[in-house]
Amino acid sequence: MLELCGITKRYGDKLALDQVSLTLDAGIYGMLGPNGAGKSTLMNIITGNRRPTQGQVKWEGREIGALGAAYRSLLGYAPQQQGLYDGFTGQRFLSYMAALKGIPRKAQGAEIERVLGYVNLKEAARRFLGSYSGGMKQRILIAQAMLGNPRLLVLDEPTAGLDPRERVRIRERIESLAGERIILVSTHVVSDIEPIAKEIILIKAGRILDRGTVEGLCEKYGCGCGDACDKEDGGAQGARGKYGSLGGLEEVYMRLFGEEERCFG
Ligand code: ADP
Repeated sequence: MLELCGITKRYGDKLALDQVSLTLDAGIYGMLGPNGAGKSTLMNIITGNRRPTQGQVKWEGREIGALGAAYRSLLGYAPQQQGLYDGFTGQRFLSYMAALKGIPRKAQGAEIERVLGYVNLKEAARRFLGSYSGGMKQRILIAQAMLGNPRLLVLDEPTAGLDPRERVRIRERIESLAGERIILVSTHVVSDIEPIAKEIILIKAGRILDRGTVEGLCEKYGCGCGDACDKEDGGAQGARGKYGSLGGLEEVYMRLFGEEERCFG
């Protein structure tokens, strides 16, 4: 179990996270919020790459700083694509990451084969990363995060910059990794996460607005005004026309993060 206890992060005067508290157990969680909401900052704090200004991250009740290497060995992290080693082959990149993770040399070969299989990149393992498509780069990042079969998998915008077909593939890969582990996926693209998440965590301006199942959030924040809203607002130009027609979590997203909330009040 992962616990975030009152996490606050300041960059100078900028308050990027404000008293974030969350408890996560096994399952896929979508962290959804607009750009600048604080998703990457929170992920960097969960992975131990950044320290919070205040608050603690705990794994099974123990502060992650105190767990040190033990925490790193149960954690897999796929950051955003920048900084990928273009001059490495897929195989070499994974060997390098396996060594960094402390996977014993003898076990590395089989482990690399296993994660390449997960993301369907066995055929491309000897090619340079610089020649990979955007979707392949995302998949190799997920593969390196899966080295050592981590119990906590943190994926930062795994579908950024991908076309719709590649997005679906990545979504299916993530879904196939679910099991006894915690998978936390940040995105601002609702359809990436809506069909596969156990829960959605809504984040805005450094605060958790709410969390819940897709159904629960749709019930709570969906239009709910039905035809009456259509009539009041004059049909297509009305709130229902604007957001309600989207349906599902997309509608919730637009209501919470879109520029207007015409159907409320
Ligand atoms: P998201 O991942 O949701 O787009 P971020 O965590 O990247 O959000 O950013 C949250 C806020 O913190 C933004 O206002 C961003 O400009 C600011 N921020 C992020 N990193 C830094 C940094 N290294 N220095 C200063 N401000 C930062």
